[in-house]
Amino acid sequence: MNNLLLIDDDQDFSEFFVAAINSKGANCQVLSEPKKIINLNLEAIDHIIIDLLMPEFDGLQILRFLKEIDYRGDISVTSGQDQSLLDSAKEICQLHKLSFHSVLKKPFDLSTLDTITKKKCVEQIKNNKIAPTEPSDSELTTALKTAIDSQCLDVYFQPKVNMSNSLITGFEALARWSLNGKFIPPTRFIPLAESTGLINKLTQVIVEKSLKHFARIQAHHSKPSLSINFSALELNTSNLPDLLKSKIDQYQVASERITLEITETVFLEKNTLSLEVLTRLRLMGFKLSIDDFGAGYSSVNMLQNGPFTELKIDRAFVSTIHCNEQSRIIVQSIVEMAKRLELSVVAEGIEDKITQDGLTKMNCLIGQGYFFSKPMPAHLVNDWLTNWYKNNNLTTIN
Ligand code: C2E
Ligand code: MG
Ligand code: MG
Repeated sequence: MNNLLLIDDDQDFSEFFVAAINSKGANCQVLSEPKKIINLNLEAIDHIIIDLLMPEFDGLQILRFLKEIDYRGDISVTSGQDQSLLDSAKEICQLHKLSFHSVLKKPFDLSTLDTITKKKCVEQIKNNKIAPTEPSDSELTTALKTAIDSQCLDVYFQPKVNMSNSLITGFEALARWSLNGKFIPPTRFIPLAESTGLINKLTQVIVEKSLKHFARIQAHHSKPSLSINFSALELNTSNLPDLLKSKIDQYQVASERITLEITETVFLEKNTLSLEVLTRLRLMGFKLSIDDFGAGYSSVNMLQNGPFTELKIDRAFVSTIHCNEQSRIIVQSIVEMAKRLELSVVAEGIEDKITQDGLTKMNCLIGQGYFFSKPMPAHLVNDWLTNWYKNNNLTTIN
């Protein structure tokens, strides 16, 4: 059975809550003096629901305490305060690497409690808890070096769609790596490559493989573009523009077709070399995009200091425009800013029609996301394109 703990100093609410939870066949204890949590044995508790606003020891202090004792059960937050406060508490919970379950904005109706008594879906749990068999950083680094040297990294392509007419405007190349048959996500191995000096070689493998596939795609379908990810660290390599130029010449791809998506994972000092590299790339005809715009340390700073041509709005904002007013305003503002600065704008992380409709209403027309297609092995792209145009009754191939 589900064992819940409600931490709330409001007696009337607690009584209502416990009765409702019991009626759904779960147990619920109440802690009305939050400071006493330090004396409780939480091992048998599966799920803690925390009221944010309590005198003396508030919900955020409880979250910090739960982080310190490495509490592994689920956590929900509740409050009558405005939604942005609840969303911030959720964010804090995730930053503490606690297993976040739900936000309960008071007042709520009884049906909301159905979700509270349910376990989280497996995928959510996986995101929050690292499996004990994960290879260590040093094991992974050694294996990654071997994979790079033997060109054992793969490239997947994900399409970018013009949402006003369904035409495919281009593809983003994404690195893929499996170790002993197990998929290692780029969010794990790219930062590792950056911190161990392997990133330049990794990029060379990805550039080579992406261009090879792209040359085949452009032979069948004219005019799509190709976006390749680069770490901001690589802008400190003065020969990057020449390296790229020699590769596009080898595969006969025009520089105007290539966009470099710069992901800012480290804080970039204002730096003459980076600016010089970016400017030379532009002079050579390449396009430059700020990836995950809005999520980095200094996206706006980058925008002011570099000759960028595109902003790619971070998935965290895009995927929540229909349920979070702040996200909607942020996305709308980025779209308007991009327009005034004469930059292209791309939304990433579109998973459903409601998000697509919200974006087109804001005049954000280029989108990427699982709603259109998940990233696919690059060799399948030509067939995918043919099917896409057929299924969308499009005769013109962009
Ligand atoms: P990114 O460049 O922002 O790429 C978009 C990521 O969002 C990809 O994750 C893609 O699979 C995922 N994505 C796209 N649409 C959706 C959607 O609708 N829903 C969800 N949940 N996710 C979606 P992926 O492939 O895991 O890559 C993660 C990040 O790793 C990339 O983010 C990029 O920063 C980095 N990365 C990947 N390949 C390379 C590479 O070759 N070089 C460098 N430097 N970084 C790379
Ligand atoms: Mg990208
Ligand atoms: Mg991105």
